[in-house]
Amino acid sequence: MQIGKHMAAADRTVVGCPEAKAALEAALLDIAGQASGLPVSELVGGRHRDSVPLSFSVANPDFDADLDDIARITGDGVRILKIKTGFRDHAFDRMRLEKLRALYGDALSLRVDYNQGLRAVDAIRTLRDLECFGLTFMEQPVKRHERAALAEITRALDTPVMADESVFDPREAMEGVQMRLADIFALKIMKSGGIRRSLEVAAIARLGGIDVYGGCMFETGIAHAAGAHLMAALPDLHLGCEFYMSSYYLKEDILAEPFPVRDGMVHVPDGPGLGVAVDPDRLAKYRTLLLE
Ligand SMILES: [Mg+2]
Repeated sequence: MQIGKHMAAADRTVVGCPEAKAALEAALLDIAGQASGLPVSELVGGRHRDSVPLSFSVANPDFDADLDDIARITGDGVRILKIKTGFRDHAFDRMRLEKLRALYGDALSLRVDYNQGLRAVDAIRTLRDLECFGLTFMEQPVKRHERAALAEITRALDTPVMADESVFDPREAMEGVQMRLADIFALKIMKSGGIRRSLEVAAIARLGGIDVYGGCMFETGIAHAAGAHLMAALPDLHLGCEFYMSSYYLKEDILAEPFPVRDGMVHVPDGPGLGVAVDPDRLAKYRTLLLE
C-alpha cells in the first residue's frame, strides 16, 4: 500500500490542507485494513482500548436550551461536558458553571473552551476566577499565535490548560513541549493531517509529560471512526474524546449504521479497516461535484 509514501507525496504536492490529507489517509488505511482483515487501530500501532468516554460540548447562547440538551445527554450516560466560554461575557460563563455544579454536583467532569476568546492582557485574572469550579481543564484561552501568553497562563493556574488551535502538527507540538505551552494538547486528525501524524503529536506530548485529548471538527461518522481508531491506538488517554456530532447533530449521516455511541462512551469499531460502511444512496445524495 505504501501509505507513508502516498502521504509524503501529498505533503510535497500541496501545502497545508490537513483536513483533505486526513481524509486521504483514512481512505488508504481503510483499504489496507479491508485487504488485510485488520482494524485501522491495529495497523497504526495497536489497540489499547475498545471504548472512550464521550465529552459533549455545550455551545448554545440560549442556556435554557442547553440545560434541556444536558438533561437528555446525561440521561444517555454522558458524564463529561465542555462548556464553550468567552463568546459573551464572564458573568454569563460564571453563571452557567454555578448552575451546572448546583444541578449536578461533582457527578460531571466540566471543562471550558474559550476558542481563543480571551484577551491576553487579563486572561489570567478571568481564568483564576473559575478555578473554584474544579474544572478538568481550560482550553485555548488566547489566540493561536499568543504562545508566550498561553505558556504564562499555564504556569499561573492550578487548573490544567489545554492547547487546541496552538498545536496543529508535530513541529508545533515540539515547540509546545520546549516552552511548556500547556498541560494538555488536543489531538485532531483534521489539524495534523491524519492519524499517523496525530500519533506523532501524541508521542512528543508523552515524552514532554503533556496529556492528550481526542478532539474533532464538525464531521460525519467516517471521520469520527478514523478519530476513534486514533484514540484506540494511544498508549495513554485519560480525558476522553468528543465524537458526538454525527450522533447528536447531523440530521442524516452517510454511514449505513449510526456511529457507535452508547452509555456515554464511544465504541471503537472492531471490523477490518475503519470498521464502518457508507450508505451508497446517502453518499450519492450529498456528493458535491467540484470539477468537471
Ligand atoms: Mg477547541
